[in-house]
Amino acid sequence: MLFETLATTGHEQVVFCHSKDAGLKAIIAIHNSVLGPALGGLRMWPYKSEQEALNDVLRLSRGMTYKNAVAGLNLGGGKAVIIGDPSKDKSEALFRAFGRFVNSLNGRYITAEDVGIDVNDMEYVFRETEFVTGVHQVHGGSGDPSPFTAFGTLQGLMAALNHKYGNEDVGKHSFAVQGLGHVGMEFVKLLREQGAKVFVTDIHKERVQCAVDEHGCTAVGLDEIYDVDADVYSPCALGGTLNEKTIDRIKAKIICGAANNQLATDEIGDELARRGVLYAPDYAVNAGGVMNVSLEIDGYNRERAMRMMRTIYYNLSRIFQIADRDHIPTYKAADRMAEERIATIGRIKLPMMGNSGPRFLGRMRGQ
Ligand code: NAD
Repeated sequence: MLFETLATTGHEQVVFCHSKDAGLKAIIAIHNSVLGPALGGLRMWPYKSEQEALNDVLRLSRGMTYKNAVAGLNLGGGKAVIIGDPSKDKSEALFRAFGRFVNSLNGRYITAEDVGIDVNDMEYVFRETEFVTGVHQVHGGSGDPSPFTAFGTLQGLMAALNHKYGNEDVGKHSFAVQGLGHVGMEFVKLLREQGAKVFVTDIHKERVQCAVDEHGCTAVGLDEIYDVDADVYSPCALGGTLNEKTIDRIKAKIICGAANNQLATDEIGDELARRGVLYAPDYAVNAGGVMNVSLEIDGYNRERAMRMMRTIYYNLSRIFQIADRDHIPTYKAADRMAEERIATIGRIKLPMMGNSGPRFLGRMRGQ
């Protein structure tokens, strides 16, 4: 049964990790390592069943293969989940036990932070294995990826504006930005610096107030964001906001934001394309975070990270070209770009010589 699932999803390896003493029940899934070691975050969640946890890690690890491939990284896709409640079940032993399992894979899987996990948890993992990214700056890590994700989103946006209107002039356009968290607030700041008209909303009133007072944005209600007359709708909160109920209301001709899994279904992506709305595929737009942590592998450098964000512009331009070339919606073009890269690089790869696992330079482990 499990192998049947893996045959369908294309996964290479699934590792079930158990430590009774540490209370650890975790699953690591390596989807594809053709481009390099599988990199993807660790999620901690109170899954209702083991099957639910397995489904989640399989889905998320596959997503990382596509994201890393389109980002142009020499990394494959993987992900890990710990079954547990992040508000109650965290301990040093839990994360160190998890770290030992990661280490046992000898660099085939590299972990990072995801939902339910913070930099302090990663400190424990880091004590047991070097195959961790997103570690604290005091260890030579890259710190909070959000400003890079926001800057990368701006690059994706400029590619979309250029494709749609033939110019990259952010300041000439209007934006409806949903979500003013770590990425959204930084993103509206960048938009306003270029003089754009920016409408904002968030569940947290103080964040909206901050965007109005400090960045000169215009506040709208939580539900009103879908009706705003703006050129670009920018989802920077939760996934699934492009759905049957919202797409008739959205007037924007471009959709470009940092949120993950923006399309509720593939059919919504087809429908947006049919209506002539340019959807900038989420995982290509929001790759700034993973690009940033990936640089920890051979020695983190902030300037290099900022330069790398610019490649998001070219990746999006290529996706739009493929969509036009093959007459397909942009979300399918992004998948095609990932698959083409994996197939091409897979063909030219030389056999592995000796131990070619990743080497982490410029980081200090221990206390
Ligand atoms: P965050 O939790 O800091 O911010 C999310 C914000 O959205 C919060 O302020 C929250 O109040 C608001 N929000 C939630 N539901 C809302 C709703 N219905 N309407 C309006 N606002 C709502 O998260 P973040 O790190 O800024 O990430 C934002 C999105 O970008 C997420 O989907 C995340 O998965 C994705 N993403 C983030 C990064 C990163 O580097 N942080 C990288 C890749 C993708």
